[in-house]
Amino acid sequence: SRDAEKCVCETCSAAAPFARVSGAELTVPLADGGSCTYANFDYAASAPALVQVTERVQDLLPYYASVHRGAGYASQVCTASYEGARDVVSKFVGARADDVVVFTRNTTDSLNLLAGCVPGETVVLDIEHHANLLPWKRNGVRVVEAADSVDETVRRVVAELCARPAALLAVTGASNVTGEVLPIARLAEIAHNCGARILVDAAQLLPHRRVDIAALGVDYLAFSGHKLYAPFGAGALVGPADWLDAAQPYLAGGGATRDVSAEGAVEWASAPQRHEAGTPNVLGVAALAAACETLSGLDSAGAEAHERALCERLTTGLSAVDGVRVLRIWSDAPDSVGIVTFTVDGVEPRAVASYLSDRHGIGVRDGRFCAHPLLARLGRPGGAVRASLGLGSHAADVDRLVAAVAEFVAART
Ligand code: PLP
Repeated sequence: SRDAEKCVCETCSAAAPFARVSGAELTVPLADGGSCTYANFDYAASAPALVQVTERVQDLLPYYASVHRGAGYASQVCTASYEGARDVVSKFVGARADDVVVFTRNTTDSLNLLAGCVPGETVVLDIEHHANLLPWKRNGVRVVEAADSVDETVRRVVAELCARPAALLAVTGASNVTGEVLPIARLAEIAHNCGARILVDAAQLLPHRRVDIAALGVDYLAFSGHKLYAPFGAGALVGPADWLDAAQPYLAGGGATRDVSAEGAVEWASAPQRHEAGTPNVLGVAALAAACETLSGLDSAGAEAHERALCERLTTGLSAVDGVRVLRIWSDAPDSVGIVTFTVDGVEPRAVASYLSDRHGIGVRDGRFCAHPLLARLGRPGGAVRASLGLGSHAADVDRLVAAVAEFVAART
Protein backbone atom coordinates (compact mmCIF):
# COMPACT_ATOMS: atom_id res chain seq x y z
CA SER A 1 0.00 0.00 0.00
CA ARG A 2 1.15 3.55 -0.75
CA ASP A 3 1.35 5.74 2.33
CA ALA A 4 -0.15 9.20 2.60
CA GLU A 5 2.61 11.70 2.13
CA LYS A 6 2.98 15.01 3.87
CA CYS A 7 2.52 18.13 1.84
CA VAL A 8 5.66 19.24 0.07
CA CYS A 9 4.62 22.64 -1.24
CA GLU A 10 6.34 25.71 0.18
CA THR A 11 3.14 27.23 1.50
CA CYS A 12 2.32 24.07 3.41
CA SER A 13 5.65 23.59 5.06
CA ALA A 14 5.10 27.07 6.52
CA ALA A 15 1.54 26.71 7.69
CA ALA A 16 0.16 23.18 7.34
CA PRO A 17 -2.20 21.77 8.31
CA PHE A 18 -4.87 24.36 7.72
CA ALA A 19 -7.60 22.07 8.87
CA ARG A 20 -8.18 18.45 9.67
CA VAL A 21 -10.89 16.82 7.62
CA SER A 22 -12.53 13.44 7.99
CA GLY A 23 -11.36 10.67 5.68
CA ALA A 24 -7.85 12.11 5.30
CA GLU A 25 -6.29 8.69 5.87
CA LEU A 26 -8.92 6.62 4.08
CA THR A 27 -7.60 3.43 2.46
CA VAL A 28 -9.31 2.42 -0.78
CA PRO A 29 -9.07 -0.74 -2.92
CA LEU A 30 -7.33 -0.75 -6.30
CA ALA A 31 -8.16 -2.82 -9.38
CA ASP A 32 -4.94 -4.83 -9.05
CA GLY A 33 -6.03 -6.13 -5.64
CA GLY A 34 -3.84 -3.69 -3.72
CA SER A 35 -4.90 -0.62 -1.81
CA CYS A 36 -3.73 2.93 -1.23
CA THR A 37 -4.55 6.12 0.61
CA TYR A 38 -7.47 7.90 -1.00
CA ALA A 39 -6.66 11.15 -2.77
CA ASN A 40 -9.78 13.28 -2.70
CA PHE A 41 -10.14 15.69 -5.61
CA ASP A 42 -13.89 16.03 -5.34
CA TYR A 43 -14.27 18.82 -2.80
CA ALA A 44 -16.48 20.80 -5.18
CA ALA A 45 -19.13 18.07 -5.05
CA SER A 46 -19.07 17.60 -1.26
CA ALA A 47 -16.26 18.53 1.10
CA PRO A 48 -15.34 16.09 3.87
CA ALA A 49 -16.47 17.27 7.31
CA LEU A 50 -14.01 19.21 9.41
CA VAL A 51 -13.00 17.33 12.54
CA GLN A 52 -14.48 20.14 14.69
CA VAL A 53 -17.78 19.63 12.88
CA THR A 54 -17.97 15.91 13.60
CA GLU A 55 -17.11 16.66 17.25
CA ARG A 56 -19.94 19.21 17.47
CA VAL A 57 -22.41 16.67 16.10
CA GLN A 58 -21.22 14.04 18.59
CA ASP A 59 -21.58 16.53 21.46
CA LEU A 60 -25.13 17.43 20.45
CA LEU A 61 -26.35 13.89 19.71
CA PRO A 62 -27.16 12.99 23.36
CA TYR A 63 -29.53 15.98 23.42
CA TYR A 64 -31.48 14.67 20.43
CA ALA A 65 -34.78 16.55 20.65
CA SER A 66 -37.07 18.72 18.60
CA VAL A 67 -36.66 22.47 18.68
CA HIS A 68 -38.93 25.40 19.57
CA ARG A 69 -41.94 23.69 21.12
CA GLY A 70 -40.35 21.29 23.59
CA ALA A 71 -40.00 22.49 27.19
CA GLY A 72 -37.58 19.78 28.32
CA TYR A 73 -33.89 20.47 28.82
CA ALA A 74 -32.81 18.60 25.69
CA SER A 75 -35.24 20.70 23.63
CA GLN A 76 -33.87 23.85 25.22
CA VAL A 77 -30.32 22.82 24.27
CA CYS A 78 -31.35 22.04 20.70
CA THR A 79 -33.38 25.24 20.35
CA ALA A 80 -30.47 27.33 21.63
CA SER A 81 -28.13 25.54 19.22
CA TYR A 82 -30.51 25.95 16.26
CA GLU A 83 -31.33 29.61 16.87
CA GLY A 84 -27.74 30.41 17.85
CA ALA A 85 -26.65 29.03 14.49
CA ARG A 86 -28.48 31.88 12.75
CA ASP A 87 -26.18 34.40 14.42
CA VAL A 88 -23.11 32.34 13.57
CA VAL A 89 -24.08 32.07 9.89
CA SER A 90 -25.12 35.71 9.78
CA LYS A 91 -21.71 36.83 11.11
CA PHE A 92 -19.85 34.39 8.89
CA VAL A 93 -21.26 35.93 5.71
CA GLY A 94 -21.22 39.53 6.95
CA ALA A 95 -25.00 39.93 6.90
CA ARG A 96 -26.66 43.24 7.74
CA ALA A 97 -28.51 43.53 11.05
CA ASP A 98 -31.91 43.22 9.41
CA ASP A 99 -31.07 40.31 7.08
CA VAL A 100 -32.62 36.97 7.92
CA VAL A 101 -31.03 33.54 7.77
CA VAL A 102 -33.42 30.88 6.50
CA PHE A 103 -32.17 27.34 6.98
CA THR A 104 -32.76 25.16 3.95
CA ARG A 105 -31.54 21.76 2.76
CA ASN A 106 -28.89 23.08 0.36
CA THR A 107 -28.21 25.70 -2.31
CA THR A 108 -30.81 24.23 -4.66
CA ASP A 109 -33.41 24.52 -1.93
CA SER A 110 -32.38 28.11 -1.13
CA LEU A 111 -32.60 29.16 -4.78
CA ASN A 112 -35.99 27.51 -5.27
CA LEU A 113 -37.22 29.22 -2.13
CA LEU A 114 -36.15 32.65 -3.36
CA ALA A 115 -37.52 31.90 -6.84
CA GLY A 116 -40.94 31.63 -5.24
CA CYS A 117 -40.52 35.10 -3.69
CA VAL A 118 -39.03 37.19 -6.54
CA PRO A 119 -41.52 39.85 -7.62
CA GLY A 120 -40.47 39.90 -11.29
CA GLU A 121 -38.00 38.55 -13.80
CA THR A 122 -34.52 37.27 -13.07
CA VAL A 123 -31.44 37.75 -15.23
CA VAL A 124 -28.81 34.99 -15.23
CA LEU A 125 -25.72 34.06 -17.23
CA ASP A 126 -25.60 30.89 -19.30
CA ILE A 127 -22.61 29.60 -17.30
CA GLU A 128 -24.66 28.75 -14.25
CA HIS A 129 -25.18 25.45 -12.44
CA HIS A 130 -28.71 24.20 -13.20
CA ALA A 131 -29.66 25.09 -9.62
CA ASN A 132 -29.19 28.76 -10.53
CA LEU A 133 -30.80 28.48 -13.98
CA LEU A 134 -33.93 26.41 -13.70
CA PRO A 135 -35.78 27.68 -10.59
CA TRP A 136 -36.09 31.22 -12.00
CA LYS A 137 -38.17 30.06 -14.98
CA ARG A 138 -41.20 30.24 -12.69
CA ASN A 139 -41.35 34.07 -12.72
CA GLY A 140 -39.56 34.63 -15.99
CA VAL A 141 -35.85 34.35 -16.62
CA ARG A 142 -33.62 36.09 -19.17
CA VAL A 143 -30.40 34.28 -19.95
CA VAL A 144 -27.39 36.37 -20.96
CA GLU A 145 -24.75 34.62 -23.02
CA ALA A 146 -21.35 35.00 -21.39
CA ALA A 147 -18.61 36.47 -23.60
CA ASP A 148 -14.96 35.36 -23.78
CA SER A 149 -13.92 38.08 -21.35
CA VAL A 150 -15.36 39.02 -17.99
CA ASP A 151 -15.43 42.70 -19.03
CA GLU A 152 -17.56 42.00 -22.09
CA THR A 153 -19.75 39.62 -20.07
CA VAL A 154 -20.39 42.37 -17.52
CA ARG A 155 -21.22 44.79 -20.36
CA ARG A 156 -23.81 42.30 -21.65
CA VAL A 157 -25.35 42.05 -18.20
CA VAL A 158 -25.57 45.85 -18.03
CA ALA A 159 -27.21 45.96 -21.46
CA GLU A 160 -29.77 43.33 -20.46
CA LEU A 161 -30.63 45.04 -17.17
CA CYS A 162 -30.88 48.44 -18.87
CA ALA A 163 -32.99 47.15 -21.75
CA ARG A 164 -35.82 45.97 -19.53
CA PRO A 165 -36.24 46.12 -15.76
CA ALA A 166 -35.61 42.92 -13.86
CA ALA A 167 -36.20 42.16 -10.19
CA LEU A 168 -33.07 40.10 -9.68
CA LEU A 169 -29.64 39.37 -11.07
CA ALA A 170 -28.67 35.85 -9.99
CA VAL A 171 -25.00 35.00 -10.47
CA THR A 172 -22.59 32.36 -9.34
CA GLY A 173 -19.80 33.42 -7.00
CA ALA A 174 -17.41 30.86 -8.50
CA SER A 175 -18.05 28.56 -11.43
CA ASN A 176 -18.45 24.93 -10.39
CA VAL A 177 -16.82 23.95 -13.70
CA THR A 178 -13.76 26.19 -13.91
CA GLY A 179 -13.52 27.82 -10.48
CA GLU A 180 -13.47 31.26 -12.10
CA VAL A 181 -14.82 34.09 -9.96
CA LEU A 182 -16.93 37.01 -11.14
CA PRO A 183 -16.47 40.62 -9.93
CA ILE A 184 -19.31 40.45 -7.45
CA ALA A 185 -19.10 43.98 -5.98
CA ARG A 186 -19.14 45.45 -9.50
CA LEU A 187 -22.15 43.35 -10.50
CA ALA A 188 -23.94 44.31 -7.29
CA GLU A 189 -23.48 47.99 -8.06
CA ILE A 190 -24.70 47.47 -11.62
CA ALA A 191 -27.77 45.54 -10.47
CA HIS A 192 -28.66 48.22 -7.92
CA ASN A 193 -28.16 51.04 -10.43
CA CYS A 194 -30.67 49.26 -12.67
CA GLY A 195 -33.18 48.81 -9.86
CA ALA A 196 -32.54 45.07 -9.41
CA ARG A 197 -31.30 43.07 -6.46
CA ILE A 198 -28.47 40.58 -6.68
CA LEU A 199 -28.31 37.01 -5.50
CA VAL A 200 -24.99 35.20 -5.32
CA ASP A 201 -24.94 31.41 -5.57
CA ALA A 202 -22.04 30.92 -3.18
CA ALA A 203 -22.03 27.11 -3.25
CA GLN A 204 -18.49 27.11 -4.65
CA LEU A 205 -17.24 30.51 -3.51
CA LEU A 206 -17.86 30.30 0.23
CA PRO A 207 -15.75 27.17 0.85
CA HIS A 208 -12.75 29.01 -0.64
CA ARG A 209 -13.13 32.73 0.09
CA ARG A 210 -14.36 34.85 2.98
CA VAL A 211 -17.53 36.59 1.84
CA ASP A 212 -18.97 39.76 3.38
CA ILE A 213 -22.33 40.43 1.77
CA ALA A 214 -22.75 43.86 3.32
CA ALA A 215 -19.34 45.00 2.06
CA LEU A 216 -19.92 43.50 -1.40
CA GLY A 217 -23.43 44.94 -1.68
CA VAL A 218 -24.93 41.48 -2.19
CA ASP A 219 -28.60 41.16 -1.31
CA TYR A 220 -29.07 37.40 -1.14
CA LEU A 221 -26.57 34.62 -0.59
CA ALA A 222 -27.31 30.91 -1.04
CA PHE A 223 -25.02 28.06 -0.03
CA SER A 224 -24.78 24.42 1.04
CA GLY A 225 -23.33 22.99 4.26
CA HIS A 226 -22.05 19.84 2.55
CA LYS A 227 -19.69 21.89 0.37
CA LEU A 228 -18.58 23.88 3.41
CA TYR A 229 -17.09 20.98 5.39
CA ALA A 230 -20.37 20.10 7.15
CA PRO A 231 -22.56 17.04 6.51
CA PHE A 232 -25.37 16.83 3.97
CA GLY A 233 -28.82 18.25 4.52
CA ALA A 234 -28.39 21.83 5.74
CA GLY A 235 -27.88 25.03 3.79
CA ALA A 236 -28.98 28.63 4.02
CA LEU A 237 -30.50 31.58 2.25
CA VAL A 238 -29.45 34.91 3.75
CA GLY A 239 -30.89 38.31 2.86
CA PRO A 240 -33.60 40.92 3.39
CA ALA A 241 -36.94 39.72 4.73
CA ASP A 242 -39.35 41.84 2.66
CA TRP A 243 -39.62 39.58 -0.41
CA LEU A 244 -39.65 36.52 1.81
CA ASP A 245 -42.46 37.94 3.97
CA ALA A 246 -44.57 38.97 0.99
CA ALA A 247 -44.51 35.49 -0.56
CA GLN A 248 -46.41 32.33 0.23
CA PRO A 249 -44.51 30.02 2.60
CA TYR A 250 -42.15 27.64 0.81
CA LEU A 251 -43.88 24.71 2.52
CA ALA A 252 -47.22 24.87 4.29
CA GLY A 253 -47.21 23.29 7.72
CA GLY A 254 -46.33 23.50 11.39
CA GLY A 255 -43.73 25.97 12.49
CA ALA A 256 -44.50 28.41 9.67
CA THR A 257 -47.71 29.71 11.24
CA ARG A 258 -48.63 32.21 13.94
CA ASP A 259 -52.19 31.02 14.21
CA VAL A 260 -54.67 28.72 12.51
CA SER A 261 -58.32 29.30 13.34
CA ALA A 262 -60.90 26.58 13.84
CA GLU A 263 -62.34 27.71 10.50
CA GLY A 264 -58.96 27.13 8.85
CA ALA A 265 -57.86 30.75 8.42
CA VAL A 266 -54.07 30.87 8.59
CA GLU A 267 -51.87 33.66 9.86
CA TRP A 268 -48.38 32.91 8.61
CA ALA A 269 -45.25 33.77 10.57
CA SER A 270 -42.59 36.13 9.19
CA ALA A 271 -39.29 34.91 7.77
CA PRO A 272 -37.29 32.92 8.67
CA GLN A 273 -39.95 30.74 10.36
CA ARG A 274 -42.39 31.39 7.47
CA HIS A 275 -40.18 29.30 5.18
CA GLU A 276 -39.08 26.64 7.64
CA ALA A 277 -42.22 24.54 8.10
CA GLY A 278 -41.75 21.07 9.55
CA THR A 279 -39.27 19.74 12.08
CA PRO A 280 -35.94 21.26 11.13
CA ASN A 281 -32.56 19.60 10.66
CA VAL A 282 -31.16 20.53 14.06
CA LEU A 283 -27.99 18.46 13.81
CA GLY A 284 -27.29 19.62 10.27
CA VAL A 285 -27.67 23.26 11.24
CA ALA A 286 -25.46 22.81 14.32
CA ALA A 287 -22.85 21.20 12.08
CA LEU A 288 -23.12 24.04 9.56
CA ALA A 289 -22.59 26.57 12.37
CA ALA A 290 -19.58 24.59 13.63
CA ALA A 291 -18.11 24.69 10.12
CA CYS A 292 -18.65 28.46 9.91
CA GLU A 293 -17.02 28.99 13.30
CA THR A 294 -14.05 26.79 12.44
CA LEU A 295 -13.53 28.44 9.07
CA SER A 296 -13.77 31.90 10.69
CA GLY A 297 -10.93 30.92 13.02
CA LEU A 298 -8.62 29.79 10.21
CA ASP A 299 -5.88 31.88 8.69
CA SER A 300 -7.93 32.55 5.55
CA ALA A 301 -5.11 34.33 3.71
CA GLY A 302 -2.82 31.39 4.38
CA ALA A 303 -5.45 28.88 3.27
CA GLU A 304 -6.03 30.88 0.12
CA ALA A 305 -2.30 31.04 -0.66
CA HIS A 306 -2.00 27.30 -0.04
CA GLU A 307 -4.85 26.59 -2.43
CA ARG A 308 -3.51 28.95 -5.08
CA ALA A 309 -0.11 27.23 -4.94
CA LEU A 310 -1.73 23.80 -5.31
CA CYS A 311 -4.08 24.96 -8.05
CA GLU A 312 -1.24 26.43 -10.04
CA ARG A 313 0.82 23.28 -9.56
CA LEU A 314 -2.11 21.19 -10.79
CA THR A 315 -2.93 23.42 -13.77
CA THR A 316 0.70 23.63 -14.85
CA GLY A 317 1.24 19.91 -14.38
CA LEU A 318 -1.86 18.88 -16.32
CA SER A 319 -1.31 21.43 -19.10
CA ALA A 320 2.15 19.94 -19.71
CA VAL A 321 0.67 16.52 -20.50
CA ASP A 322 0.15 15.90 -24.23
CA GLY A 323 -3.48 16.22 -25.27
CA VAL A 324 -4.71 17.54 -21.92
CA ARG A 325 -6.71 20.75 -22.10
CA VAL A 326 -7.75 22.77 -19.08
CA LEU A 327 -11.10 24.53 -19.55
CA ARG A 328 -11.58 28.25 -18.91
CA ILE A 329 -14.56 30.47 -19.65
CA TRP A 330 -12.73 33.79 -19.60
CA SER A 331 -9.32 35.21 -20.34
CA ASP A 332 -9.53 37.81 -17.56
CA ALA A 333 -11.30 36.35 -14.52
CA PRO A 334 -10.30 38.42 -11.49
CA ASP A 335 -9.87 35.33 -9.30
CA SER A 336 -10.23 31.55 -9.38
CA VAL A 337 -10.88 28.96 -6.68
CA GLY A 338 -9.35 25.48 -6.56
CA ILE A 339 -11.24 23.79 -9.37
CA VAL A 340 -9.42 22.47 -12.44
CA THR A 341 -11.51 20.87 -15.17
CA PHE A 342 -9.86 19.23 -18.14
CA THR A 343 -10.28 16.89 -21.08
CA VAL A 344 -7.90 14.44 -22.72
CA ASP A 345 -8.05 14.58 -26.51
CA GLY A 346 -9.97 11.68 -27.99
CA VAL A 347 -10.87 10.12 -24.64
CA GLU A 348 -14.20 9.85 -22.84
CA PRO A 349 -13.99 11.69 -19.50
CA ARG A 350 -15.35 8.60 -17.73
CA ALA A 351 -12.38 6.54 -18.97
CA VAL A 352 -9.95 9.01 -17.37
CA ALA A 353 -11.89 9.22 -14.11
CA SER A 354 -12.21 5.43 -13.84
CA TYR A 355 -8.50 4.93 -14.51
CA LEU A 356 -7.58 7.43 -11.80
CA SER A 357 -9.82 5.71 -9.28
CA ASP A 358 -9.19 2.06 -10.19
CA ARG A 359 -5.43 2.31 -10.64
CA HIS A 360 -4.47 5.15 -8.31
CA GLY A 361 -7.18 5.63 -5.69
CA ILE A 362 -7.77 9.19 -6.89
CA GLY A 363 -11.33 10.54 -6.67
CA VAL A 364 -12.27 13.09 -9.35
CA ARG A 365 -15.62 13.80 -10.98
CA ASP A 366 -16.53 13.45 -14.63
CA GLY A 367 -19.57 14.52 -16.62
CA ARG A 368 -21.27 17.82 -17.28
CA PHE A 369 -21.43 19.00 -13.66
CA CYS A 370 -25.11 20.09 -13.83
CA ALA A 371 -23.99 22.89 -16.14
CA HIS A 372 -24.93 21.47 -19.54
CA PRO A 373 -25.22 24.83 -21.35
CA LEU A 374 -21.74 25.82 -20.14
CA LEU A 375 -20.14 22.53 -21.20
CA ALA A 376 -21.75 22.95 -24.62
CA ARG A 377 -20.44 26.52 -25.02
CA LEU A 378 -16.97 25.34 -23.95
CA GLY A 379 -17.15 22.83 -26.81
CA ARG A 380 -17.36 19.84 -24.45
CA PRO A 381 -20.93 18.54 -24.82
CA GLY A 382 -19.65 15.10 -23.85
CA GLY A 383 -18.35 16.37 -20.53
CA ALA A 384 -14.96 16.70 -18.88
CA VAL A 385 -13.01 15.65 -15.78
CA ARG A 386 -13.02 17.90 -12.72
CA ALA A 387 -10.35 17.90 -10.02
CA SER A 388 -11.23 20.12 -7.09
CA LEU A 389 -9.19 21.10 -4.07
CA GLY A 390 -9.96 21.88 -0.46
CA LEU A 391 -8.45 22.35 2.97
CA GLY A 392 -7.20 18.77 3.20
CA SER A 393 -5.46 18.87 -0.20
CA HIS A 394 -1.70 18.71 -0.39
CA ALA A 395 1.01 18.88 -3.01
CA ALA A 396 1.93 15.20 -2.88
CA ASP A 397 -1.61 14.32 -3.97
CA VAL A 398 -1.48 16.94 -6.73
CA ASP A 399 1.73 15.37 -8.02
CA ARG A 400 0.14 11.94 -7.77
CA LEU A 401 -2.81 13.09 -9.90
CA VAL A 402 -0.63 14.73 -12.54
CA ALA A 403 1.61 11.63 -12.75
CA ALA A 404 -1.42 9.35 -13.07
CA VAL A 405 -2.90 11.43 -15.91
CA ALA A 406 0.48 11.44 -17.67
CA GLU A 407 0.69 7.65 -17.23
CA PHE A 408 -2.83 7.27 -18.66
CA VAL A 409 -1.94 9.33 -21.72
CA ALA A 410 1.41 7.54 -22.22
CA ALA A 411 -0.29 4.15 -22.02
CA ARG A 412 -2.57 5.12 -24.92
CA THR A 413 0.17 6.24 -27.30
N1 PLP B 1 -24.57 26.01 -7.39
C1 PLP B 1 -23.33 25.61 -7.64
C2 PLP B 1 -22.35 26.61 -8.21
C3 PLP B 1 -22.95 24.30 -7.36
O1 PLP B 1 -21.69 23.91 -7.62
C4 PLP B 1 -23.89 23.42 -6.84
C5 PLP B 1 -23.55 22.01 -6.57
O2 PLP B 1 -22.64 21.46 -7.12
C6 PLP B 1 -25.17 23.90 -6.58
C7 PLP B 1 -25.47 25.19 -6.86
C8 PLP B 1 -26.20 23.01 -5.97
O3 PLP B 1 -25.82 22.65 -4.68
P1 PLP B 1 -26.64 21.58 -3.87
O4 PLP B 1 -26.61 20.33 -4.68
O5 PLP B 1 -25.92 21.46 -2.58
O6 PLP B 1 -28.01 22.12 -3.74
